[in-house]
Amino acid sequence: MKDKFDVLIIGGGPGGLTIGSLLAKEGVSSAIIEREPNLGGRYRSVNFHGCRSDNGIRMPTAMVRKPEETFMHKFLDHMGIAPKETKEIDWTMGLLNKDSPNRIEYFSMDPNKGVENFFDFFAFGSGLPMEEPSRQSLSKAFKIMEDTSEEECRRLVNVSFDDWINRNVEDPIANAVLHLASPLMGALATDVNYGGFANVLGTFPRVGALLFWYPTQGHMEDMVITPLTKYYLDHGGTVLANRRARSILIENAEAKGAIVHNNETRFLEEYSAPIVICAIPIFEALARNVLRREFLTEDWAESIELCGRLTYEDLSVFYLLREEVIPKDGYGWVHIFDPDYGLPTYVGDWCLGYPLFNVKEPPGKQYLYSYIPGGLPDTHFGLTSSPETVNEAIRRWEDAVIKVFPDFAKAIEFKGISLQLNWGRYAWAKVPTEIDIESPNIKGLYFAGDSIRSVTSMVSDKIYQMVFPLCERILKYMRS
Ligand SMILES: Cc1cc2nc3c(=O)[nH]c(=O)nc-3n(C[C@H](O)[C@H](O)[C@H](O)COP(=O)(O)OP(=O)(O)OC[C@H]3O[C@@H](n4cnc5c(N)ncnc54)[C@H](O)[C@@H]3O)c2cc1C
Repeated sequence: MKDKFDVLIIGGGPGGLTIGSLLAKEGVSSAIIEREPNLGGRYRSVNFHGCRSDNGIRMPTAMVRKPEETFMHKFLDHMGIAPKETKEIDWTMGLLNKDSPNRIEYFSMDPNKGVENFFDFFAFGSGLPMEEPSRQSLSKAFKIMEDTSEEECRRLVNVSFDDWINRNVEDPIANAVLHLASPLMGALATDVNYGGFANVLGTFPRVGALLFWYPTQGHMEDMVITPLTKYYLDHGGTVLANRRARSILIENAEAKGAIVHNNETRFLEEYSAPIVICAIPIFEALARNVLRREFLTEDWAESIELCGRLTYEDLSVFYLLREEVIPKDGYGWVHIFDPDYGLPTYVGDWCLGYPLFNVKEPPGKQYLYSYIPGGLPDTHFGLTSSPETVNEAIRRWEDAVIKVFPDFAKAIEFKGISLQLNWGRYAWAKVPTEIDIESPNIKGLYFAGDSIRSVTSMVSDKIYQMVFPLCERILKYMRS
């Protein structure tokens, strides 16, 4: 069997679906090859004992002031499916009180405080004193980042954030606070590149805080995947689900299509197309030979391998509680710091299902999940972790919650664990060159999704930022 398409998209997560829909809007038909029965990737919802929710914490995030300013919202608006109403979500730290059990102190970011906000936020969580010299030193560091252009940031992806901090920030407290920013993102300052961080943190003085938002109804799947899939199918797109791409075909340095394993028939199928978009995490494509190393330039291969080394899974534990244990009128999403480890130590987040993530709970019960980012010395989950590491992280998180809400343990009716590839921080690895949306050496080969381009907007907002230039380049190539 050999079907022919103009464009073949490998992977039907937000990355593949956005470019497929945008091309469809431009009148270009394509086919999406998706390994699972349904599109959506890591935006797919889960059903936990009757409570449907995102598969772990997932909120549109960016360094802007309003949801409408995010690339995601702009893209959905461009496609005519922007959510009518959204809510903003507080970014809150919760510090357990060592001297007074059952007490937690909260501190939320206030965008009106500008860059001071960042200092106070991290000082609160870490317990570090923020005196004037440290504030001045941090202001100087933020000013350098603010003045670094996006182009310059791209050239600095080969400098580690750690090197940059140590060279530019003498004050020890300021130095420690900047180092603290990276573990909270789930990777150490030694591993991540300065360019990506400068690009994000440099906007802090202007914007004042990270924005987190969410639709007032439904989940990420409902807001993005369901309407985009409908749009895609209504505008000539083809979904080839339950099919796993085995290898992207390349001949004479030109993309030719892909070999695909049909999970139902168990036969191999060949699809030909002069344009192939690889929208699965690029290090996975390389590791599984979907994209053969010989088709990459040396600096790309090295960069992808370095990104792959920053690939950890995030841990979420879902709980359905017999009763409401955590008050809903406080904060819904909280980073918990436990001071019982010497210094206040980040043990993970708690996230309330309702009302924060629009989960319908059975009457009288409470749906809650933890979020513990991988990639820190204690939480190298999944790809390299042992069950002991995972259990130890869960124990620390549960212990902290029980300290403030002693009824938590006995209220657990159901508990489930989810480990998933984390949210794109691998693209921040210190690399010789930034992985781009277009192959430098293979004609017709393009890339989408959250594993490429380190100097971008944050988390999956970057996908919606990249989709417009990607579409333009493909259209230009088709016309040439
Ligand atoms: C726990 C967690 C929390 C997160 N929190 C946030 C958040 O708060 N805000 C935010 O913006 N983002 C968040 N994200 C990140 C967000 O989910 C990802 O950035 C986004 O899903 C990436 O989209 P993608 O299309 O690149 O990849 P994916 O969503 O992974 O989609 C890739 C698709 O390709 C398919 N596939 C893989 N291999 C093959 C193959 N060989 N053949 C065919 N198909 C294949 C997969 O089944 C999948 O459907 C979070 C992610 C996790 C795991």
